[in-house]
Amino acid sequence: MLLVTGLASQRRSRAGEGGNRRAGHGAPSPRCKVVVIGAGFGGLEAALRLARQRNVDLTVIDSHNHHLFQPLLYQVATAALSPADIASPVRGIIPASNRTHVLMATVTGVDTRARRVLCDGHAVPYDELIIATGSKPSYFGHASWAEAAPGLKTLDDALALRHSILAAFEQASVAGSAADQARLLTFVLIGGGPTGVEMAGSIAELARDVLAHDYDMATGRARILLIEAGPRVLEAFAPDLSEDAAAALTGLGVEIRTHTSVTGIEAGLVHLHNETIAAGTVIWTAGTEATPVAGWLGVTPGHGGRVAVGADLRVSGHPGVSVIGDAALASGADGKPLPGLAPVAKQQGRYVARAILRRLRGRRALAPFAYRDYGTLATIGRNKAVAEFGPVHLHGLPAWLMWAVAHIFFLIGFRNRVMVSAQWAFAYMTEERAGRLIIERAGPRTEPRTGRTPQPVAEAGHAD
Ligand SMILES: Cc1cc2nc3c(=O)[nH]c(=O)nc-3n(C[C@H](O)[C@H](O)[C@H](O)COP(=O)(O)OP(=O)(O)OC[C@H]3O[C@@H](n4cnc5c(N)ncnc54)[C@H](O)[C@@H]3O)c2cc1C
Repeated sequence: MLLVTGLASQRRSRAGEGGNRRAGHGAPSPRCKVVVIGAGFGGLEAALRLARQRNVDLTVIDSHNHHLFQPLLYQVATAALSPADIASPVRGIIPASNRTHVLMATVTGVDTRARRVLCDGHAVPYDELIIATGSKPSYFGHASWAEAAPGLKTLDDALALRHSILAAFEQASVAGSAADQARLLTFVLIGGGPTGVEMAGSIAELARDVLAHDYDMATGRARILLIEAGPRVLEAFAPDLSEDAAAALTGLGVEIRTHTSVTGIEAGLVHLHNETIAAGTVIWTAGTEATPVAGWLGVTPGHGGRVAVGADLRVSGHPGVSVIGDAALASGADGKPLPGLAPVAKQQGRYVARAILRRLRGRRALAPFAYRDYGTLATIGRNKAVAEFGPVHLHGLPAWLMWAVAHIFFLIGFRNRVMVSAQWAFAYMTEERAGRLIIERAGPRTEPRTGRTPQPVAEAGHAD
């Protein structure tokens, strides 16, 4: 949906064109229309560098009105943080002006011949296009599993999961039988990557330290299973850190099943090769695929549906189009595809902005994009995390402190940094989770990227 405010800013932009003359010169300065699709990590980084540049007319389009700090989504889903703590309005980050426009709209295609972005029945012209629409959960060809095992990608997803987790305890407290209670309090996470590990640890702590007291329930009544098809959790980390993470999770009471593939999922049931698990909440953390950018550009999708880009992050055959972040298939120094991580998207965003400005100024092209890997971190719970900085491997409290500091540092906006720091400090001292609110939301919500209309939150993800 293109918001009226978006159209208004376009009108402001046209009205502002008369003023686009350099002071003291009679001739209009050459202007380049740059459109950025997606105000996530990559798109925002590019947009912030292009905003208010003298020769750039910038339009940022996003289907949401906020930039989302996805690494902390699981904390919203597990009641540790509130939505506004990890999201900021795009219009607050990139204020509209006569050269910079923000549109809340869902892009449905790109007319590369006419150089126009198609969104909600409108066409936005561009000279240079940066596509940074990220990824979405991938069910490896089993689209029907999505309804019973939602993924975690948007604030809507996080709130629906929070509802599911909290409502499960509420319903279990009045369940008619022990079997019903056991089913409601079984949480299955499918996929042992960072999101699965972080979610599993956080649900375990929520159940043990907070909800067990709320409901006067024996600690350990909740069952949390983490299912991973590969040989170990956190496969992208070094084996010793995977082992540390697995030991920390086991210490929190999480059951880890490695070498275990899911063969089917239906409402409240997870089928394995020789077992079916009845669960109140099933969460998909197993994989992602790119948003449908390849289809928009008419190119063959590469691994994970991503668009292959050259060393300058532009798409072959489309010189005015750059694709960055999770939607792009770019190679690292070792020739392997770069991972879908926030720092990759941010560095690529900075690179394409600089490359466009150099082209505009008629300067020499930049050296090929090279990703700088500063290390990776994953947290399991209170004082429990793993960190890998090349040969340096940390775990326990030092890794957890680094994780916390890094996440505060990379959050967008002073307010969010203060709020998250304060809430973490309070939670650390009290083991309290202030976000454990069950909120019924009226009316269907439509997720712009999939177009599917999920069930009302009150019903989402429940077996009963
Ligand atoms: C739960 C979770 C935890 C994560 N944890 C970590 C972590 O700890 N560390 C790490 O480095 N990475 C982490 N990641 C990965 C990281 O968030 C991504 O790699 C990063 O967000 C990719 O940036 P991007 O700019 O490509 O896309 P995104 O940041 O996803 O931004 C895409 C933007 O495009 C918009 N959009 C999508 N489709 C359309 C459309 N059709 N029209 C208009 N707008 C559209 C979206 O609304 C969104 O704002 C995590 C991801 C998730 C989901």
